[in-house]
Amino acid sequence: MARKIQAIRGMNDILPDQSSVWLYLEKTVADVVKSYGYQQIRFPIVENTDLFKRGVGETTDIVEKEMYTFNDRNGESLTLRPEGTASCVRAADQAGLLFNQTQRLWYMGPMFRYERPQKGRYRQFHQIGVESFGMGTADIDAELIILSARLWQKLGLLGQVELQLNTIGLASEREAYKAALVDYLTQFKDQLDEDSQRRLGTNPLRILDSKDEATQSVLKEAPSLEDFIGEESQSHFERLQTILKANGISYVINRRLVRGLDYYGKTVFEWVTSHLGAQATVCAGGRYDGLVEQLGGKPTPAVGFAMGIERLVLLLETLDLIPQSAKFSADVFVVSIGDDAEVASFVLAEKLREVSPNLVILRHCGGGSFKNQMKKADKSEARFTLILGQDEIDQGICQVKDMSTGEQQSHPLHDVVAYLNSKL
Ligand code: ATP
Ligand code: MG
Repeated sequence: MARKIQAIRGMNDILPDQSSVWLYLEKTVADVVKSYGYQQIRFPIVENTDLFKRGVGETTDIVEKEMYTFNDRNGESLTLRPEGTASCVRAADQAGLLFNQTQRLWYMGPMFRYERPQKGRYRQFHQIGVESFGMGTADIDAELIILSARLWQKLGLLGQVELQLNTIGLASEREAYKAALVDYLTQFKDQLDEDSQRRLGTNPLRILDSKDEATQSVLKEAPSLEDFIGEESQSHFERLQTILKANGISYVINRRLVRGLDYYGKTVFEWVTSHLGAQATVCAGGRYDGLVEQLGGKPTPAVGFAMGIERLVLLLETLDLIPQSAKFSADVFVVSIGDDAEVASFVLAEKLREVSPNLVILRHCGGGSFKNQMKKADKSEARFTLILGQDEIDQGICQVKDMSTGEQQSHPLHDVVAYLNSKL
């Protein structure tokens, strides 16, 4: 036998028993974002490598060590998208959607990062992202957070995820803070973990995120970013909090929250859960007023977030929050014996589909004995089985078996659809 080829490490198949949960989640999100006036945008999975280098930032983990980058046959460097924001900006700007106007956009699809695969962390994973452009005021930051809270409410997750908020100020404020932080940390360089020592020269803000205990204890006495935040960023942050409070959105301020992508400024936020171990963040975002210009567009304020679908699916499963209606199950199974009955069973099934388009109707295909077909009906867990044989055709009737009681009744063929419709 030929050797079987396996999927790439960290890239998962989403099998039929899982895909119904994905569909439920995707549909719920699509409905919520639409109700806030967001329109879907789709862009390619592959982009020029420079888009992510310039967009996400050369010294971020993503660009330094996580990208799937390759040369195509022309020798051009391409990258499988590690995130959606840079592509969304590229696509919207290229189409002229950003200049002098506002946009509310969302997208979903696979992202690729070469990370160590573990629960909630994969090499191909999926995000749903929501981005807004052309609005620099705190009300749109609030809108996005309130929208995400509404989604948690719809999914039964409100109370299971905590909103963490911070402001990381303007680029100039961060630069001043970085200098102070590097000055301070350099004195204790030996006590920092290896990653943080490296980041001291490349991306010092990320040191605040370090999980290393020794590093965290050095950080206790470090200068605080808050002290470097200017009036504009501060009042933006306060306005956001006022709106959130008025809408009953609870949050905690996490002064260490900095996010791993370079384009953020002012507001940053994460929705975090305690149910998924180390992979705790299910949704993350913030303001990125500099990105459009950095990618060659006109200065355009922007704010957005992305959520990880795998982590949300895991969370819904862990908390047993998948509604019965989201699970796939057959309503009606159709059994037929003989050529005439086979033809009639098709006609009957189609009539039923016409009248009740939401029912799942499984018509047995492939012939076989009555006993065998009934076994399949049992296995399908359908609520009703319709049975047609030559006798039934001759008499113009159909047997209807209620699979929960085992009771079987015959109905005139022309009544079956109305009868089932009243029962299901
Ligand atoms: P983390 O700190 O968990 O690595 P991140 O800061 O790299 O996350 P973002 O780039 O902001 O994450 O992506 C937004 C969301 O996408 C994350 O909060 C998470 O839910 C999800 N996500 C990110 N990377 C992965 C991955 N490798 N596998 C599964 N989901 C992921
Ligand atoms: Mg990451």
